[in-house]
Amino acid sequence: MTYQSLSPFDGKLIKGFPDITQGEYESKLAKAQACYETWRHTSYGDRAAIIHKASKLLHEQADAFAHTMTLEMGKRISEARGEVEFSARILEYYAKHAERFLAPVHLDPVHGKAHMQSSPIGVIFAVEPWNFPYYQLARVAGPHLMAGNTLVVKHAGIVPQCALAFEHLLIEAGAPVGLYTNLFISHEQSDHVVDDPRIKGVCLTGSVAAGRSIAAAAGKALKPSSMELGGSDAFIVLEDADLDLTIPWAVWGRMYNCGQTCCAAKRFIVVESVADEFIKRFQTALSELKAGDPMDEATTLGPMSSEAALVQLLGQVKQAVAKGARLLLGGKRIDRPGSYMEPSILTDIKPDNPAFRDEFFGPVALFFRVKDEAAAIALANDCDFGLGGSVWTRDHDRGHRVASAVETGMMFINNIDWSDPELPFGGIKDSGYGRELGDMGIQQFVNKKLVRCVHEKAPV
Ligand code: NAP
Repeated sequence: MTYQSLSPFDGKLIKGFPDITQGEYESKLAKAQACYETWRHTSYGDRAAIIHKASKLLHEQADAFAHTMTLEMGKRISEARGEVEFSARILEYYAKHAERFLAPVHLDPVHGKAHMQSSPIGVIFAVEPWNFPYYQLARVAGPHLMAGNTLVVKHAGIVPQCALAFEHLLIEAGAPVGLYTNLFISHEQSDHVVDDPRIKGVCLTGSVAAGRSIAAAAGKALKPSSMELGGSDAFIVLEDADLDLTIPWAVWGRMYNCGQTCCAAKRFIVVESVADEFIKRFQTALSELKAGDPMDEATTLGPMSSEAALVQLLGQVKQAVAKGARLLLGGKRIDRPGSYMEPSILTDIKPDNPAFRDEFFGPVALFFRVKDEAAAIALANDCDFGLGGSVWTRDHDRGHRVASAVETGMMFINNIDWSDPELPFGGIKDSGYGRELGDMGIQQFVNKKLVRCVHEKAPV
């Protein structure tokens, strides 16, 4: 059974869900296609009424939605509530602004008149991860449904109840049958979905391996795709950084969602002259986090999302140490029920250590000392990923200079990598391609059609 709710707090199985049968798959896809044929002709106002209502319901039922998330993947309840509210804001943002983003754009040709028109393209297939069980869904549902497309979604196997809750939310908001549909399918079945002629676009948020597999299938079928993949974002601390501001953000940037965030601060690159003070204070702050029940508001360290995720991370730490890295803090599982990992810091990571290139998706910080700003930039760029990053300095010009020099899709000055509904989100290199959120997020799966009108005689 691929779809299982299993509590990472105590390891107990809550509920299992069977994969859908071929017959169910056929019927769901047929309904998504049939819905598209009418949905594409609805007005922005009619679409917005449903998406706005979904946003309102999400906000009103935030506690219940958050509870399901915490139960299934262990996110601390206050963070879970924050994610639900954020998801509601994303839906509301697109309900409000979609029409403006997709309005015809008038062009100015030498002869005649022309404009670009944006129209929906069909059923979009979204593959989504467990680490933000609703936010990721809102990021695709808000823009693509408002654009006039319909969605079939393969959510992660460990958050089936979140998947069902989001689908139900849209139905409760008045979505017609087939507008937004969960597909509880295997990886192999996902390839068939990509191939299906009714699917007109594919988006995935997840690991590089999953991205390669789904992007290859989409490429073979000549379907547009967007990929939001992993990251190993640099957190660059220059010698003039305000450490009182920087250190709490360093802790939050690494530990939010128990470190399981694509754009988390993962590589702490600190200029030599402040490195000792930074690491001393960072280490102390991390060691003060207390493991507990993620449902308890007072808990500062929740479990990882699953036992498999914990085992994988422990293996990465072990391998890093075997290849010469040094543990400054943690490195072990916490001796208690559930999938808990000690907050950990690795240092002395040389370029030939796999840890130098790998993504650590959990509470493990990689710490590097560098000579100066130029060395910090060079190290930040010596990375296969290119999602985000941050730079900490009191000098804003310097902050902007470093932000320009780091090769990623997003850079933040004196602030942690984060997203907002109105700001585009995405990366380059192994972090994928395409953008979600903001104006760019809604342009991903629309037909940008040129319409031109010229009255001229044909040349002889
Ligand atoms: P994952 O294993 O790639 O899973 C993500 C989704 O892809 C799940 O629904 C998974 O299904 C599915 N999947 C995996 N391999 C597949 C395949 N070959 N064919 C079809 N579907 C496949 O990733 P994860 O470990 O759960 O999530 C963490 C990763 O996602 C990290 O690398 C993180 O950085 C990245 N991420 C990126 C962003 C971003 O916006 N850039 C945001 C969040 C997370 P199953 O659950 O059934 O395996």
